[in-house]
Amino acid sequence: MGYTPSSAVSSKAFASVAVGRPVRGEFTYLVPASLAGRLLVGQRVLVPFGRGKALAFYLGPAPEPEAGLKLKAIERPLETEPSLPEDLIALLRFAAEHYRYPLGETIRCALPPGLSSPEEEREPVPDVVQFAVAQEGADPNLLLRAPAQHAALSYLLAVGGRAPLEELDRAIPGAKEAMRRLSQRGLARLESEAVRPGVAEGFAQVRPERLTVEQETCVAKLEEALERGGFQPFLLHGVTGSGKTEVYLRAVEMALERGLGSLVLVPEIALTPQLVGRFRSRFGAAVAVLHSALKDRERLRQWRALRSGEVRIAVGVRSAVFAPVRELGVVVVDEEHDGSFKQEEKLRYHARDLAVVRAKQASALAVLGSATPSLETLENARRGRYQLLELRSRVDDRPMPSIELVDLRLTRPREAQRPAEEPPILSLPLLDAMGEVLSRGQQVILFLNRRGHSTFLLCEVCGASVRCADCDVCLTHHLSGRKVMCHYCGRHSPEPEGCPECGGPLLRLGVGTERVEAEVAFRFPMARVARLDKDAATSAERVTELLASFARRELDVLVGTQMVAKGHDFPGVTLVCVVLADTSLALPDFRASERTFQLLTQVGGRAGRGKDPGRVLVQTYNPQSEPVVRVLSHDFSGFSARELERRRALAYPPFTRMAAIRVEGAHPAQTADVARWLGQRTAARLPPSSRGVRLLGPAPAPLSRIKGKSRWQLLLKGPTHLALSGPLAEVEACLAKVPPSVRVVIDVDPGAML
Ligand code: ADP
Ligand code: ZN
Repeated sequence: MGYTPSSAVSSKAFASVAVGRPVRGEFTYLVPASLAGRLLVGQRVLVPFGRGKALAFYLGPAPEPEAGLKLKAIERPLETEPSLPEDLIALLRFAAEHYRYPLGETIRCALPPGLSSPEEEREPVPDVVQFAVAQEGADPNLLLRAPAQHAALSYLLAVGGRAPLEELDRAIPGAKEAMRRLSQRGLARLESEAVRPGVAEGFAQVRPERLTVEQETCVAKLEEALERGGFQPFLLHGVTGSGKTEVYLRAVEMALERGLGSLVLVPEIALTPQLVGRFRSRFGAAVAVLHSALKDRERLRQWRALRSGEVRIAVGVRSAVFAPVRELGVVVVDEEHDGSFKQEEKLRYHARDLAVVRAKQASALAVLGSATPSLETLENARRGRYQLLELRSRVDDRPMPSIELVDLRLTRPREAQRPAEEPPILSLPLLDAMGEVLSRGQQVILFLNRRGHSTFLLCEVCGASVRCADCDVCLTHHLSGRKVMCHYCGRHSPEPEGCPECGGPLLRLGVGTERVEAEVAFRFPMARVARLDKDAATSAERVTELLASFARRELDVLVGTQMVAKGHDFPGVTLVCVVLADTSLALPDFRASERTFQLLTQVGGRAGRGKDPGRVLVQTYNPQSEPVVRVLSHDFSGFSARELERRRALAYPPFTRMAAIRVEGAHPAQTADVARWLGQRTAARLPPSSRGVRLLGPAPAPLSRIKGKSRWQLLLKGPTHLALSGPLAEVEACLAKVPPSVRVVIDVDPGAML
């Protein structure tokens, strides 16, 4: 690619650019004679803006503006070749429009930090990557006295034996030094490797010889689709442990054979080291792994390697949907129902939805995989927009785990020799099951979706609870550090001696993971127990280490939040206990039931993935609730049919499009005023009621105060996004008049409703 000098240069040329500032719309600039005909779409340029200069992106020629307008000229290009490929510009234009976010800012959100500020082109980074490789049979347990080496080797083994040195160094502080020592000991080595496309290098041995019959069918359909060419979206609905990952791997392999690149989105890299390891070992240096903790330089290097086509496959978290993979053939979204694909700040995009748009623009295959597809995706499949691929049974015909209920109303948790202010939490059936499994040397996962020790402290005398001064929530009691903490703003203080109101004794109510861990340790003193939640997982490295040592069976019991429910494949786990299924049921969110079903299924799916069958025990006070009943009988289709009916009746997605307008401000009265004013302005722009667009609110948000800010919200519902565009345009027009002390955010296709 280079400059194509244009022969016929008109006297004046105009350029349309997106300015990397929070301003809406595209801007027209004059093209200086020296640049006429030489600008390339996506190129970063420097433009005068306001009183200073700004980074901008060239979008294409602009029509001659009305006479009399005085235009400024583009100052100079910041690079010789555009960092942004044209197909990404198309995707980002869609995103900016759909999510009502300024185009220039949208583009900046997509670019690696090195490219999102107005700096001149840097030295190209060398095309050689150093890989850290574990020696076969190396055992980290021999390194317990050298924690850095132990961690580095554990990490390597967890990701399949091999990882770029930069990645390792990011995950494990001091890894470079540790690698030097590991090489001296002969436990690991460094390999330099030119970044280049290539199939199956290194650890190819994990590729199973034969696919299961169902996998075979899915792969054959994907192959036909690749042969046919063009955009084709698929829902890969496969029960937990059915081998979905192998289907993704084959799809990516088939694309590579045809010279096409692939994009694979996963919810969270730290929680999916196994999946990353499988991609890494199958495709070696052809894979770029993109996660949120990458260093800027590394991110830029990955971007350039993908952009140039040296690396053909990107595996990454939601922001990887913008990775500049060339000649895209396959786009995979694993665990497509996962909430982490929705970004909750700045550009509030849903990576799964953009992934499908991207596949469409690139005429590629889109494969959305899950054991519990979102109702949005399911409905697309039901209407025939997505082809359905199914994996109904587990690999090797392993049985699905048996799921049993413990009705806490009848089976009260057993009285323990514990302080009276802590009511018991583990019922007799659960304790029996755990004892049995542990005595067989097998492993247990205990799941509870609340961290901390007790989720609220209540005064036994006056009934007051200990609340956050800045948020509309109770403080959680954490035993480690003896503190109380707000899970919304992070504010924490020492554990109070007594009730802040009357000084009376405090009851510790509402169980969190910390207490479950303590209870297990108390009940099973011989068991090796660990906890995986946001408090315990202080770094990606810590998470990987915990998961790796659980996989090596150095731990017997893992207690945790939804972090334990992700796609882990631990063959030693034969018992999964849900400590309380009810925590997510009562949330004021129309997806509460769907989320509960997904969580219970996902966490239950960790049981019985090895040769021994699995068992799941679910403790609940709501045994009749729809998600609980359906999870019990592995009845996804029954659950989703009912839930879809309910959504239709109540006009919720997927039968309705929604947009939330969130209003936040430090002064309660002013915030309420702005919300009401926005409500009036929006209501005035609603199409005739026959068009089915409705405005709900303004009303205080379910969490009416966070970090000292009052929160209000308005909800727009309509049959299509187009139907919402009039009222949303009105909100956008109002933004400029909102006082600076109030923040208004438009959230299209909102995720969490709190
Ligand atoms: P899912 O993502 O559907 O829960 P996985 O992809 O993790 O399931 O597969 C479950 C287990 O089965 C993994 O350990 C995987 O290595 C193994 N597996 C997958 N496909 C095959 C196959 N064709 N033959 C043998 N083992 C397989
Ligand atoms: Zn708070």
